[in-house]
Amino acid sequence: MLLQIDSISTYYGHIQALKDVSLHVNQGEIVALVGANGAGKTTLLNTISGLLRAREGRILFDGKEITRSSAAGIVRAGISHVPERRQVFDTLTVYDNLLLGAYQRYRRDGRKAIEKDIERVFELFPRLEERRKQMAGTLSGGEQQMLAIGRGVMARPKVLLLDEPSLGLAPLIVKSLFEMIAALRESGQTVLLVEQNARAALKLADRAYVLETGRVVLEGAAQDLLQDSRVQAAYLGGKVE
Ligand code: ATP
Repeated sequence: MLLQIDSISTYYGHIQALKDVSLHVNQGEIVALVGANGAGKTTLLNTISGLLRAREGRILFDGKEITRSSAAGIVRAGISHVPERRQVFDTLTVYDNLLLGAYQRYRRDGRKAIEKDIERVFELFPRLEERRKQMAGTLSGGEQQMLAIGRGVMARPKVLLLDEPSLGLAPLIVKSLFEMIAALRESGQTVLLVEQNARAALKLADRAYVLETGRVVLEGAAQDLLQDSRVQAAYLGGKVE
């Protein structure tokens, strides 16, 4: 088990946003976390990456407890978080945004290794290569999302946390974005994916958890959840063909 969340509860003041949540992610898997607005998905990712603190429970990563580690320490340990709403540096080029994604490893790995990884991101996202010198702020929404993910990959994380990558994107763009996330898995990348687009997420993922008002209410193989009548009624708008 690469990432293990053990009965965590997270609060905003005295509002409890996560209630006794447990889940795990194995090496090489894509695990999806689906749920409606306000279910606590972002809160969970922020708790894993150290932006919020769990009041109860434990988070283990790669055999070590990180529940109380700093956000910077958690990045160094190998967790990279791509937050909601694609936060890229608008006034930097595509290339420089990718370079910045690797700043934590710059001293350790050197420029050559990092340039090689940028080429690898370009292989995954050819659209970014065509636009390598373009200012990030002038990219389309889908391209910015690719760039945000590419920047996350540049940290060479053991786990990539993706928060709502499909948000605000047209269906066709979502489809190609999810194909790229599948390609990331082929390259060995482990991913924890938060999505409101349950159908796309379940089609892509190996396993999934359904979160409702801060609790895990269902979990299992993504294929099984796609066929589950409760999931279909609540999240897929009826039966899936
Ligand atoms: P969405 O898909 O809409 O982003 P989500 O599943 O990611 O939803 P969260 O953003 O994690 O949900 O929110 C979970 C709950 O915590 C919600 O009830 C929300 O109102 C509450 N919450 C989130 N951020 C704060 C905050 N800073 N202060 C107080 N309550 C918050």
